[in-house]
Amino acid sequence: MKQYTRSTFCFNFIFTAECDTVIRFELDSVTSGQQTTANSPSRYDAIIVGAGHNGLTAAAYLARAGLSTLVLERRDIVGGCCVTEEIAPGCRVSTTSYIASMLRPEVISELRLADHGLRMIPCDPAIQVPFPDGHVVPWWVDRERARQEFSRISAKDAARFVQVDDQLKKLARYLQPFFMEPPPEIDTCTIRGWTDLFRVGKRFRGISSAEIAQLVSFLTGSLGEFLDHNYESDKMKAMFLANNVYGKHGGPYQPGTAIGLLFHLLSGGEHELQGFYGHVIGGMGSITQALAAAGRKLGVEIRTSAPVASIEVRSGRARGVVLDDGTELRARMVLSNADPKRTFLKMLDAKDLPEDFLFAVRGIKMAGPCAKVNFVLDEEPRFTGTSSHATPLERTFYTLVPSLEFAERCYDIAKFGNIPEELWVDCVVSSNADDSLAPAGKHILTCFVQYVPYQLREGNWDEERELLGDRVVKKIAEYAPNVPGAIVARQVLTPLDLERTYGLTEGNIFHGDLRLEQLFFMRPVPGWSQYRTPIGGLYLCGAGAHPGGGVTGAPGRNAAHQALRDWKKGRLQESAA
Ligand SMILES: Cc1cc2nc3c(=O)[nH]c(=O)nc-3n(C[C@H](O)[C@H](O)[C@H](O)COP(=O)(O)OP(=O)(O)OC[C@H]3O[C@@H](n4cnc5c(N)ncnc54)[C@H](O)[C@@H]3O)c2cc1C
Repeated sequence: MKQYTRSTFCFNFIFTAECDTVIRFELDSVTSGQQTTANSPSRYDAIIVGAGHNGLTAAAYLARAGLSTLVLERRDIVGGCCVTEEIAPGCRVSTTSYIASMLRPEVISELRLADHGLRMIPCDPAIQVPFPDGHVVPWWVDRERARQEFSRISAKDAARFVQVDDQLKKLARYLQPFFMEPPPEIDTCTIRGWTDLFRVGKRFRGISSAEIAQLVSFLTGSLGEFLDHNYESDKMKAMFLANNVYGKHGGPYQPGTAIGLLFHLLSGGEHELQGFYGHVIGGMGSITQALAAAGRKLGVEIRTSAPVASIEVRSGRARGVVLDDGTELRARMVLSNADPKRTFLKMLDAKDLPEDFLFAVRGIKMAGPCAKVNFVLDEEPRFTGTSSHATPLERTFYTLVPSLEFAERCYDIAKFGNIPEELWVDCVVSSNADDSLAPAGKHILTCFVQYVPYQLREGNWDEERELLGDRVVKKIAEYAPNVPGAIVARQVLTPLDLERTYGLTEGNIFHGDLRLEQLFFMRPVPGWSQYRTPIGGLYLCGAGAHPGGGVTGAPGRNAAHQALRDWKKGRLQESAA
């Protein structure tokens, strides 16, 4: 899309080729714009590498502040791993991410995503676990309804559930504000470091020593031990397990896995609900389509099939990018939505980065450990034990993980490079929540698979892909026997496919494992958590930055604000030549 930007001292007019006219008054806006002369590289205020949801979010905020902004995406569609793709004629699937649980309310409202077609409906039940004995346990959104459901398993556990829920929600509220701001750069040798420490301290005003102890044990303890301590019934423990350790390295007894309990209670969705889980109408791609439309309306230019080969650096400053086809594009700032390893180890020259920084980046734990298998069926899956009165929405979400021990064993097998015989499979019959995804008579079943290795001990993923698909089908058949005979199309995405197709280094869905030593002021690496990088004018705006992975929009929004702070201080406004 062509864009013409006219900046004046105190207000901006942006005319897009579709003649959308956006008039904004930016009191502190500065001269910006794309100035292209014959044979000279195109120039922008900001270039974003990657059109994942975070890259699109960052772009929209930058354009909203009046910056001429270009997004470059290597694939032929925008969205990264937040996409809806056709896997059989007329059958559309959220091929990678599939549930919107933490999309930030600020992003939804500030970028007016609803005006651009975004609609979500709450998953209710939020989780549902079918057990091998044919008992299906739904976790209803309404807490009293959930308590009653759980009291059928254990009256004691149902009472404990309410106490634990209160405790977790309270603790999660202390962490919530950190989500939408840069982490502190802890450095007691600078005033800035002390200011940051003070900022953190203020967030915990009123916290008791008992709550501090609880927070520390959630950050460092294991999910399994927490559940064993609080609940007597294995089914109750499996309910909590089904809601946690997604995409993470580590079985439920690994230290640091309890943090997922708090992570999932950060609020999300339009109405800022704690623990919100949503089905997105039109699939997850509706989120990124809405972000792209919002961005375009604000003046963002988006180019697909435009892989960036390198980020150009001169005198310690990012000056633009070079595409695979040799095209040079200049910018006053570059934001990378690619993961940290891809950004710093593939798109930059090692000589431009400090050795200790590169050493830290090489050490970021990635390596899978998940896969996705998507199906088109000609019959709706019939999970044994589902009530005959269940509505389509209540027949949508099934997590197949019967116990903590099962999950722990599964991780142990995967961590030694083998594909577990018995897999943990999260099933969403998304066409039950949204019948626009498939023509009448066809059904969409999308399955997240945990745990599988990135690096196989024997063979390779190109040889083992269908074996993985077969094991997933076998597991589902134990709970929904009609599925194997109903499959008309199947797409298996191994960790290697996630890397090749979606650009995720080692297939890691979060651009780096969500483990304590890779979170908060240590994400992506210690010393560089505030979206800036050792290269002036280069920022990281994807899930590899704080607060991490998941479809949240938080790293994109936070990074854009950080870049704008620097821009307003005049740090980036010298010519992009
Ligand atoms: C299988 C799977 C299931 C998941 N399930 C869920 C879920 O249900 N709910 C949830 O909240 N999260 C889920 N996630 C995690 C979530 O989708 C991601 O953490 C999040 O989408 C990352 O967004 P991002 O914008 O930071 O990066 P990405 O979506 O990875 O986008 C980065 C973009 O950069 C592009 N790129 C990379 N290199 C270049 C280059 N050189 N030139 C140009 N472009 C480049 C890539 O092609 C990509 O489009 C899942 C992820 C996967 C893979």
